[in-house]
Amino acid sequence: MAGITWHYVLKFIITGDAAVGKSSLLVRLTDQRFLVNPDPTLGVEFGSKLIEIPEEGKVIKLQCWDTAGTESFRSITRSYYRGAAGCLLVYDVTSRASFVNARSWLADVREHADPHLTCILVGNKVDLCEENAEGASNGRREVPTEEGQRWADEEGLLFVEASAKSGQNVEAAFEQASRDILDKIKRGV
Ligand code: GDP
Repeated sequence: MAGITWHYVLKFIITGDAAVGKSSLLVRLTDQRFLVNPDPTLGVEFGSKLIEIPEEGKVIKLQCWDTAGTESFRSITRSYYRGAAGCLLVYDVTSRASFVNARSWLADVREHADPHLTCILVGNKVDLCEENAEGASNGRREVPTEEGQRWADEEGLLFVEASAKSGQNVEAAFEQASRDILDKIKRGV
């Protein structure tokens, strides 16, 4: 008999403005690579990956759905949200507009998704604003880390800054959200 390959299957959705890097995060998570010029018409829609939560001794199969171009419709069909346990709400740290718009994406999630859904706010593209030795950023950043963290705290979201390009914090974002979901499952929420 084959051994257990995973203990849980968790559905994740990835939302946020166009061009914040949703497809790139999904490609990075599932393929360990980064596409410089992803073709928006061939947007990755779905990816699956096994991750391990060692302290729980659990293997989780993540099933991730990207909005793949549906941003332009603003509201996404209910079926997209159905059964989702986790959500990555993505903005681009070099685009204040994408951070402002994250509010309406969150409203959309809250309207359609399960109220217990775990949502992690992801400030993507931090590779574009690496700080130099004096601690000054190169000026491309439009949303300070503290501001992202503050809004996440106000809304009860998890928070991380990441880069689909370098891979920084990509798996960690999914892991952090998955831990929270496992915790809710254990508490029977
Ligand atoms: P989506 O529309 O939200 O799915 O965004 P894409 O994944 O298509 O990315 C939009 C553009 O941003 C592409 O040119 C990507 O190569 C670029 N991009 C995505 N993530 C990053 C990142 O972490 N850093 C940098 N520098 N560029 C990124």
